[in-house]
Amino acid sequence: MGESRQQAAVPAPLQADVVIVGAGGAGLAAAIEARAAGASVWVLEKGGAPGGSTALSVGSVTCTGTRLQRAAGIDDDPVAHWEDMAGFDGPLLERDNRALARVLCEEIPATFSWLEAHGVRFAGPFPEPPHRRARMHNVLPNSRAFVHHLARAARRSGVRFALRARAVRLLRQDGRVAGVVYEQDAREQVVQAARAVVLASGDFTNSPECKRRFMGADAARVPGVNALATGDGQRMAESLGAIVLNGDLALGPELRFAPPDGGSWVHRLPPSPLLAAAMAGAMRKLPAAWLRPFIVRFIATALAPSLQLFELGALLVDARGQAVSAPPAQLAEALAAREPGSGFIVMDWPTAQRFRAPPHSVSTAPGIAYAYLDDYARIRPRIHFEADSVGGLAAACGMSVTALEAALGERARGAGFVALGPVRPVFVHSEGGLAVDEAHRVLDRQGRPLAGLYAAGSVGQGGLLLKGHGHHLAWAFVSGRRAGRNAALAAGGTAGGAGHSLAEDG
Ligand SMILES: Cc1cc2nc3c(=O)[nH]c(=O)nc-3n(C[C@H](O)[C@H](O)[C@H](O)COP(=O)(O)OP(=O)(O)OC[C@H]3O[C@@H](n4cnc5c(N)ncnc54)[C@H](O)[C@@H]3O)c2cc1C
Repeated sequence: MGESRQQAAVPAPLQADVVIVGAGGAGLAAAIEARAAGASVWVLEKGGAPGGSTALSVGSVTCTGTRLQRAAGIDDDPVAHWEDMAGFDGPLLERDNRALARVLCEEIPATFSWLEAHGVRFAGPFPEPPHRRARMHNVLPNSRAFVHHLARAARRSGVRFALRARAVRLLRQDGRVAGVVYEQDAREQVVQAARAVVLASGDFTNSPECKRRFMGADAARVPGVNALATGDGQRMAESLGAIVLNGDLALGPELRFAPPDGGSWVHRLPPSPLLAAAMAGAMRKLPAAWLRPFIVRFIATALAPSLQLFELGALLVDARGQAVSAPPAQLAEALAAREPGSGFIVMDWPTAQRFRAPPHSVSTAPGIAYAYLDDYARIRPRIHFEADSVGGLAAACGMSVTALEAALGERARGAGFVALGPVRPVFVHSEGGLAVDEAHRVLDRQGRPLAGLYAAGSVGQGGLLLKGHGHHLAWAFVSGRRAGRNAALAAGGTAGGAGHSLAEDG
């Protein structure tokens, strides 16, 4: 009796042709395409809902040949896109995977139309040099729309989701990856994959261990924007012999303002198709001056302060008011080394005046709009402080007057000071993905595919450099769709049927 009760408590393994780890942009795209190719699909997602960094992102997707480009009279093509992508690489060009860049540029036009067919709406195109043509498109009303539309399409097509289900190990049988061990409700469970497993578990911006390994101890202290981005896929595949490429590269550490209470206003907008269509219409028809207040509100809540502030005289001080000294690009890392890891941007009056009007902005969405100091005073009053003495500013920000006076030096004698903050150093995304081939199969150290294992999105970045705006999401959707399709068509094994137990090796 006791034994049979115990047996009843152990759930039977889940089974599908394709198992996908992660329900961000890449995982959802993979799930829809694997299902469309006839496979049964389980998606494991460790969060309480699909989303990932995809749902936290600004939402730009860079693409050629779109309806919006054509409407703007722009003649563009994937080859020009591919050539221009190299312009973002600079000295890193030799480390780029240009073959995967070609896949990205050739495939994103069809994937962009596919996103639109699923109900996703965009504004644009916007310019971003060194792209020679305007190619950046921004999702409306916000990036939650990607997840809303794709998760709905996946569910409708019969994809099954296990939420709060954290993949912990890959299972191999007869030399191929044939399942995943995951934790749900504090219990380890198994899902068997008759054809293949697709890793779509994002990056490792929130894994101190990965950051220490690839970027060093200082980086390990800096948190990532997405708490769930802990490099689980990279770690699971490495334990089977896969390798991580470009692990030392990341967007960050960079300084970000504390978000408003309850998150950004734009991010709270419902991902409704009607709202998106109304916004798209307004952006086409309304004069730019009418739209600026909305775009600037978004910039002042979601984007990083410009490093030009520090080049032109602003100071970074820690939470106590002590100066943080480093070249502008390294200030975020230097601040991370101080307790409690946050600080303020402080300006004397003459410096502040330079950031009240063009050409110097506090932050920008390049080519779209610029936010100045007075925009911050109006839109983010809780992170904008003004005082006519150092003592007044220190009191307003909770800093030590003596420390702030020492940081400002001669300038402390002036009248009128401005501070913006708190600012914190964060990693936005990391580039370290598994080595993959052009079919998105995960490769081992010798460059041989690990049978039954695919990777897409950040975990399947394969050494591809995605600098500039809009390439990361483009890669997530393109590689996700392709990996999902390929996984559905993978040879699989003879062991996918019910009742087979899978060995753990690795
Ligand atoms: C603030 C911010 C702004 C950005 N803006 C842009 C932009 O405008 N344009 C652009 O191109 N890129 C942008 N990016 C980058 C872009 O969002 C990401 O590169 C992209 O979304 C990655 O997609 P993904 O599907 O690979 O990962 P994710 O969207 O992060 O999805 C991974 C999913 O896997 C889940 N997961 C992780 N581990 C496990 C596990 N062990 N078991 C089960 N599930 C797991 C996670 O919870 C998550 O849901 C931005 C990123 C951030 C953070």
